[in-house]
Amino acid sequence: MTGADVAIVGAGIIGTALAAALARRGRAVTLIEAGEPGGGTSATSFAWINSHKKDPLDYHALNVAGVVAWRRIAAEFPDAVTFAGQVSIATGAAHRASLTARMRRLTGLGYPARWATPAEARARTPMPVPDDALVAIFDGEGHAFPRRYVAHLLTRPGVTVRTATATGVASHAGRATVHLTDGGTVTAGTVVVCAGTGTAALVASAGGTLPLVPPAAGYAAFGYLTDVVAPGHGVTGIVKTDRLGLRPGDDGTLLVQTLDLDGTAEPGREPPATVTAEIAHRVAEALPHTRTRIAAVRVGHRVIPADGRTAAGPVAPGSPVWAIATHSGITLAPWLAETIAAELTGAAPEPLLARFRPTRFQATTGHPPLAAPRAPGDQ
Ligand SMILES: Cc1cc2nc3c(=O)[nH]c(=O)nc-3n(C[C@H](O)[C@H](O)[C@H](O)COP(=O)(O)OP(=O)(O)OC[C@H]3O[C@@H](n4cnc5c(N)ncnc54)[C@H](O)[C@@H]3O)c2cc1C
Repeated sequence: MTGADVAIVGAGIIGTALAAALARRGRAVTLIEAGEPGGGTSATSFAWINSHKKDPLDYHALNVAGVVAWRRIAAEFPDAVTFAGQVSIATGAAHRASLTARMRRLTGLGYPARWATPAEARARTPMPVPDDALVAIFDGEGHAFPRRYVAHLLTRPGVTVRTATATGVASHAGRATVHLTDGGTVTAGTVVVCAGTGTAALVASAGGTLPLVPPAAGYAAFGYLTDVVAPGHGVTGIVKTDRLGLRPGDDGTLLVQTLDLDGTAEPGREPPATVTAEIAHRVAEALPHTRTRIAAVRVGHRVIPADGRTAAGPVAPGSPVWAIATHSGITLAPWLAETIAAELTGAAPEPLLARFRPTRFQATTGHPPLAAPRAPGDQ
């Protein structure tokens, strides 16, 4: 048995950022990870830093706080995030209508959003932009490199990573114990479950409830993320068109989302050849002057609480077992980490999180299926 002030299960972007924030406050942290740190959902994320389509208003406010927190990281560790903005280029009727509605809402909220000309879109992206395209630019948005950020956080002093799989969490006499498949245990004053898609089972083992959307093809949980080799592509920020979203990846690659094709995405299943061919076609169409090659079509598994809203806090009032599960977890990780670390070290509960506590699930059962993200502007 080993002891720590805080044990965290899951070294994705959420668990690792929380571990670093606690270590900076002088806490001894054991970070328990079954696989490679940063190798879960955080590795198959579009990682767009935004509060673009985040309803209702309290969720928008959370994501705005997330964007502000990343701004500080951009100054401290520029390799982890780039604030090159987002260019939306709408040509079809449906995208024009949704972009117009989004612009009305976001400008009303004081979010950095402005109409622009096709000429500006041509100057900011390498893509062909028709003269009658509707163009909006979101200068305050960015894109992150989650694996780089996780690796960077793990170089900070005070965090011990233990490679092991947690099978359950139990609390006793105000402390909590994580049980591991190797027969070991880790006992701490607080255990925080940040196990991504494994969070629901671990919270249930501790007597709490934090249901996630069902892991089934055709619904919200799964989505494709395509790696494209595109030397000299010239894409500097996020670009969204009617048919794809793209952003720079590592080493001259691009990350591409084609949300309307995600209905067939399922972990462990090759995408249908027609989907791969359609993605290749759309990429070539968007970048006619670049030689592009599809390197991989990966499947990401979104971490989405069953009601779609972030959950962060104790699993029951006064419990030493806490949990964090959220979609938009790249945008939210730095802010959530600082906020939860502050609460765990004595700060008053954060008002912005008032309606985002896991305990809300104690009173509710049976959540209607969430709409799957399939349209430009979704993620
Ligand atoms: C296709 C796609 C696109 C997305 N786009 C965006 C976007 O544009 N912007 C944005 O902000 N967010 C986006 N997201 C969401 C974001 O990526 C996630 O919210 C975030 O990565 C979740 O991080 P996490 O640390 O909670 O989970 P993870 O990264 O999955 O980390 C959890 C870790 O826990 C470990 N683990 C699990 N069970 C156990 C166990 N029993 N014992 C020990 N370890 C365990 C796993 O191995 C994993 O490393 C997207 C997600 C997907 C899938």
